[in-house]
Amino acid sequence: MARVRFLGAAGMVSGSRHLIESGAGRVLVDCGLFQGEKQLRERNWQRFPVPADTIDAVVLTHGHIDHSGWLPRLVREGFKGTIHTSPATADLLGLLLYDSAKCQEEDAVYANRKGYSRHRPALPLYDERDVDRTLRLVRAVPRRTWFEPLAGTRCKFHDAGHMLGSSFVEVEVATAVGVKRIVFSGDVGRYDAPLYNDPASPPACDYLVCESTYGDRDHPPSRPLDELEAATKEAIARGGMMLVASFAIGRCQQLVYLLRTLMAAGRLPELPVWIDSPMAVAAMEVFRKHGDEHDFSEAQGHGVAESLASPWVRMAKTADESKAINGHAGPGIVIASSGMMNGGRILHHLSRRLPDPATTVLVAGFQAIGTRGRSLIDGAKFLRIHGRDVPVRAAVRRVDALSGHADRREIGRWLAGMPAPKRTFLVHGEPPAARGMAEYLKETRGWDVTIPAIGDTVEVDG
Ligand SMILES: [Zn+2]
Repeated sequence: MARVRFLGAAGMVSGSRHLIESGAGRVLVDCGLFQGEKQLRERNWQRFPVPADTIDAVVLTHGHIDHSGWLPRLVREGFKGTIHTSPATADLLGLLLYDSAKCQEEDAVYANRKGYSRHRPALPLYDERDVDRTLRLVRAVPRRTWFEPLAGTRCKFHDAGHMLGSSFVEVEVATAVGVKRIVFSGDVGRYDAPLYNDPASPPACDYLVCESTYGDRDHPPSRPLDELEAATKEAIARGGMMLVASFAIGRCQQLVYLLRTLMAAGRLPELPVWIDSPMAVAAMEVFRKHGDEHDFSEAQGHGVAESLASPWVRMAKTADESKAINGHAGPGIVIASSGMMNGGRILHHLSRRLPDPATTVLVAGFQAIGTRGRSLIDGAKFLRIHGRDVPVRAAVRRVDALSGHADRREIGRWLAGMPAPKRTFLVHGEPPAARGMAEYLKETRGWDVTIPAIGDTVEVDG
């Protein structure tokens, strides 16, 4: 017997977990945290559907928490196998998981203070010690190299172009009726995206498990350099600081890369740019180490090392270095997290500079309903920060061109060279997005497409 069980990211975009079972044992592809609405987050507290100590290995596509963030809990439940992932993901994973543990611990403290938890006292889903134990199980495997997480199951990572280290996985499972090949897309990046390589072409396969985040839409044509140039020039004309709220890993480096490109081309003057986030600063080091994974290449004179050494990029690791930015008058750029302004150092800068009409706030990513970022976009006159209503006199501008997921057309392009798999399964999409992608593949390719529900199983040795 050989089969795949869909244990998460089925009818939703978080909690990616796909279990491959064969006569030899179990391999789990991704082990993500459920995120978003409450009934989804509550799934994080359920025991894993099979005993964690019966899973032989994990194969991890990339570091985003909706793919990796449940690993420390799996380890707490008894998983002792190896976690195979790409070298860059292995280096980013510690940054991401320790940050996630910190968030879990803060949530528990908050729940105890508000008294709303069913557990008394509320406990974190996991803590730093669980992350320590998780990281000890990680094994870095280079791309395009076969490895065998379990006897009779071999895997190969290929560049997915979605974030540093991101991969899709080619899996071959030995079954009673021969070797069956399954491709798990992970998250597929975009073509011609700033910073990242284009996704590699997937091989032919018997079964395809594909993401469908934006399966019901095509992104408008994006011109990130032009958009960022225009917003920054406007901010300079206004005379004050431009504050950019950004996730510390990925988006922040894309912004530095784009700014560097604009300044090198003379399209922007050389302004001071502060990276005000210890996690973002640490991630820059990981980017520097994995130069073949992105366009921050030394050859173009835009290298990470040069950017870090150049006088206009300033790193603020410590709280004192962050506070020192307050003394700066005149144009400059601060990039700080969190990306939706729910926490982090961006709040201190907003609190200080929002009342100043010379300030520009640049919104560079998706802003969920209920976040401060969304309120700003929607034209809020005040923003509640640290218990105080801060008046908004700054200009608010957006750059929409930096989405990390392929849209329907780009997934179509990614799959263009692939002969029809026997069956295709669409995961990692809200129901309308998964349905949109399914219709697209049926109409344009005539493929047999299924949208699995959570808990569904498919036999792959038929
Ligand atoms: Zn992702």
